[in-house]
Amino acid sequence: MAQETMSFQAEVKQLLQLMIHSLYSNKEIFLRELISNASDAADKLRFEAIADSALFETDPNLRIRVAFDKAARTVTIDDNGIGMSREETISHLGTIARSGTKEFFSKLSGDQQKDAALIGQFGVGFYSGFIVADKITVETRRAGLPASEGVRWVSAGEGDFVVETIERAQRGTTITLHLREDEDELLSAYRLKSIIQKYSDHVALPILMQKEEWDQEKGEMVAKDEDETVNQASALWTRPKNDITEEQYKQFYQHLSHDHQDPLTWTHNRVEGRSEYTQLLYVPAHAPFDLWNRDHRAGLKLYVKRVFIMDDAEQLLPMYLRFIKGVVDSSDLPLNVSREILQESRDVKAIREGVTKRALSMLEELANAESDEDKAKYAGFWKEFGQVLKEGLGEDFANRERIAKLVRFASTHNDSPEQTVSLADYVARMKPEQSKIYYVTADTWQAAKNSPHLEVFRKKGVEVLLLTDRVDEWALSYFTEFDGKPLASVARGDLDLGALNDEEKKAQEEIGETMKPLVEKMKEALKDKAKDVRLTFRLTDSPSCLVADDGEMSGYLQRMLKAAGQ
Ligand code: ADP
Ligand code: MG
Repeated sequence: MAQETMSFQAEVKQLLQLMIHSLYSNKEIFLRELISNASDAADKLRFEAIADSALFETDPNLRIRVAFDKAARTVTIDDNGIGMSREETISHLGTIARSGTKEFFSKLSGDQQKDAALIGQFGVGFYSGFIVADKITVETRRAGLPASEGVRWVSAGEGDFVVETIERAQRGTTITLHLREDEDELLSAYRLKSIIQKYSDHVALPILMQKEEWDQEKGEMVAKDEDETVNQASALWTRPKNDITEEQYKQFYQHLSHDHQDPLTWTHNRVEGRSEYTQLLYVPAHAPFDLWNRDHRAGLKLYVKRVFIMDDAEQLLPMYLRFIKGVVDSSDLPLNVSREILQESRDVKAIREGVTKRALSMLEELANAESDEDKAKYAGFWKEFGQVLKEGLGEDFANRERIAKLVRFASTHNDSPEQTVSLADYVARMKPEQSKIYYVTADTWQAAKNSPHLEVFRKKGVEVLLLTDRVDEWALSYFTEFDGKPLASVARGDLDLGALNDEEKKAQEEIGETMKPLVEKMKEALKDKAKDVRLTFRLTDSPSCLVADDGEMSGYLQRMLKAAGQ
């Protein structure tokens, strides 16, 4: 088919401009993004080849090759993965068919650093090539299509791109970056290698580069006729924990999450027994901008025996843990597992239970940590994800007690809207006779803390939890007691301060005892004027008052009758 010039979607244009400007200071990520796409393409080929091994053609050894050409001033990233058809090229590289686009634009702040992080989360991927290139050529052929159905896509990253059909014997995709004026430093094996090692070491495929050796006679590095593998080339989670550095864990997290910031914590282990799998789970430091979207992508990737099966495996994690990122690699599931099968599978159920428990222990470790640093981490976690975790109180019956211990509230104990009080803290501060955990719900912290219902509790010195999150009332309709103590709303009509009143009564009796001599003396002094003298606790401001006996006329009525001449 002839050449066709097409326009980028409006959002793509906007995104391109923004990215080139705001990510410039972090430009080496383009290589990570393009290598990550190449690695995804290999994953997809492996996956499709489970059903149709002919897709491997005569080239079964999947790899990525990175090369540069000093004379042409280009850097090339080449893979023999799944490739793209003409339609796929147009839609994948010309539009952002992602649901979060609108929110993404609405969240931009104009602050370069913040926006760069947001772009990172959004995962602009391919377009990051335009940070260093003023023209990108993509040549690709989808696995299974004939050589005559190759595609060339060319764009300068401005308004439009050109697509044409070409002959291409090789399956997969070759991306050629024509470097911008002052990007020549990238035309160096040493430089490219160090970027790859920094960002892409964990990529499970070999990343090849042409080998260079020092030539004594010429006094310079000379390219040899062979390739070398420049990364570790084994899936990070399959390696023993002791062989993995903290830095490698963090880099892998960035690869998974597109988050520029380090994760708060992670956990990595192999589970053996009824169901065998490896899990590597991370808690991000910050909520992604689309956490509250209904179609927010869950963060777990599912592999089966190291073969990538799917992103966003929502069956592996309950909704209230949707912020967790990571990898689950199962040894038991069939390779041709589909989302439908996942829903039915007992192995998946076992994995889901295991992953949930592991994720909760990871949070417990942070929450119960002694060090100030970890405490601050948990506080940070709670701010970002607390509302999501609270959904678990209503959602996960089996783990409700554990979740309840992780939950934090604002309370009358601290004069602050910060949610830092745990139910255990509350219980520890309960009055000896207090049997319930009291809370008030309101739209804002201000409204909650000024609720008139709180007066009597303040007076009695009883702490009340101040609940202001939208999820609270719903969650508490499922979560009705903690540590054997029922949760009670202070606004309920049948508010029962039972034992607390008793406590007060007891205190009053004691006072009554000590005041007895005084009361007797007053009785004696007033014996002609008053029928009786009694101690009262009904007054707050006045020292004394006259009252009528039960069954007697009130003082007011007596005065009225007197005035009427009776
Ligand atoms: P993402 O990787 O998050 O989907 P990208 O912008 O990095 O976003 O890539 C967009 C899409 O382009 C990919 O989802 C994929 O379908 C396609 N694509 C990019 N690079 C390749 C490649 N090397 N081989 C096959 N498809 C690719
Ligand atoms: Mg990508």
